[in-house]
Amino acid sequence: MSVYTGPVFDMAATQFAAIADHIGIPQDERARLLYPKRALAVSIPVHMDDGRTEVFPGYRVQHHLTLGPTKGGTRFAPSLDVGETAALAIWMSWKCALAGLPYGGAKGGVACDPGALSRRELEAISRRYMQEMIPFVSPHTDVMAPDMGTNEQVMGWFMDTYSMHQGHSVNEIVTGKPVALGGTEGRREATGRGVAHLVGRACERLAIKASGATAIVQGFGNVGSVTAQCLVAEHGVKIVGVSDHTAAFFDPHGIDVTRVSAYAAKNRVLAGYTEAARIDPAELLMQKADILAPCAVERVITGANAGHLQCAILAEGANGPTTPEADAILAQRGDVFVIPDILCNAGGVIVSYFEWVQGLQRLFWSESEVNEKLRRLLDSIFAQVITRATKDRISMRMAALAIGVERVRGGKQLRGLFP
Ligand code: NAD
Repeated sequence: MSVYTGPVFDMAATQFAAIADHIGIPQDERARLLYPKRALAVSIPVHMDDGRTEVFPGYRVQHHLTLGPTKGGTRFAPSLDVGETAALAIWMSWKCALAGLPYGGAKGGVACDPGALSRRELEAISRRYMQEMIPFVSPHTDVMAPDMGTNEQVMGWFMDTYSMHQGHSVNEIVTGKPVALGGTEGRREATGRGVAHLVGRACERLAIKASGATAIVQGFGNVGSVTAQCLVAEHGVKIVGVSDHTAAFFDPHGIDVTRVSAYAAKNRVLAGYTEAARIDPAELLMQKADILAPCAVERVITGANAGHLQCAILAEGANGPTTPEADAILAQRGDVFVIPDILCNAGGVIVSYFEWVQGLQRLFWSESEVNEKLRRLLDSIFAQVITRATKDRISMRMAALAIGVERVRGGKQLRGLFP
């Protein structure tokens, strides 16, 4: 038992134990690699529009500072707790190390429902959260980014609040901010673009013709909507299913992604969309399609549905969508090619790294330069993971995690106990 114990943290711990066994990490080294270096919990009081004062819990977890500052998103979601935040920070560590970025992992957020907040309330929560974080973060200690429930505007408020405290603009305190405030071209689309790019690579590997292949995308926020758009525009894939937390749609003849994207942009949710047939959200994941891309929340591919998936490629845009029980079933089946989360959605942190570097150096790259560098790095880590999986006869997830964990461990062995 620890302060982090809970379903999501336990899942990260289970994955880590499997990797530690596989690469032979001694028992007395494991806790130091798994448990976060530090965590901060804060209370965020906000005057609500109806005159009440409400207090929201906020968190930031920094997993390790061995390889550089920590890096990680900020999640605004009703169910967020410190255990989920810690698990997401741990996954960020393995992801950054896999991509060769000079970062440890972090994650943070506020337990609130952004869909139920006015813009003024959202701004108040964002600014107060960053205010409370000021002693804990800096461009060389911990760099925040968007995640579920936050966006470019929230990053703009974070950057402004931090900068006002310093007395000058510090753009590089966050990534994923608007381009007008020093953000990079291509960051908003980076995660989904990366997911679609790796799906293209997986299709090549499996000799599936991407053009005309079918895909289901769960979650239609930043990652899901851009994944769907890039799959269509860049690979000719046909989207047959989409969902968000309010509705799910399936049509084997195809769903018009431009229209559903315009609807979601206008209404903020998919509920009420009438141009495709509704389906039970749980059923959607088990429909027939070449590609299934969970791009929403953790633990949606479980022991209950993994045996019923009908996809050839499982592209994990979300963090932690597949439970260890489901992994075991998928490994036994052997007919689903998994692009694991820390590889599949790494495009986001890779372009965040590009944004941080550009900010520190006060220089700016074009969108095509950013996308080209992104594709090159994704291709490199995709090849590394396949090579490792083949060599060790392990799953793609185990291979990706093994590379990430080994790199963090190597840094700790060289530095000593402090970071
Ligand atoms: P977002 O807030 O923009 O969108 C989340 C979407 O998921 C929304 O459409 C929401 O309605 C939907 N959703 C929530 N619960 C759902 C459910 N139970 N079933 C179906 N849909 C549901 O968030 P995002 O930035 O797109 O993040 C999505 C996932 O991708 C998260 O796991 C996040 O950690 C991960 N991720 C995001 C980034 C990034 O750059 N934003 C990078 C890497 C990984």
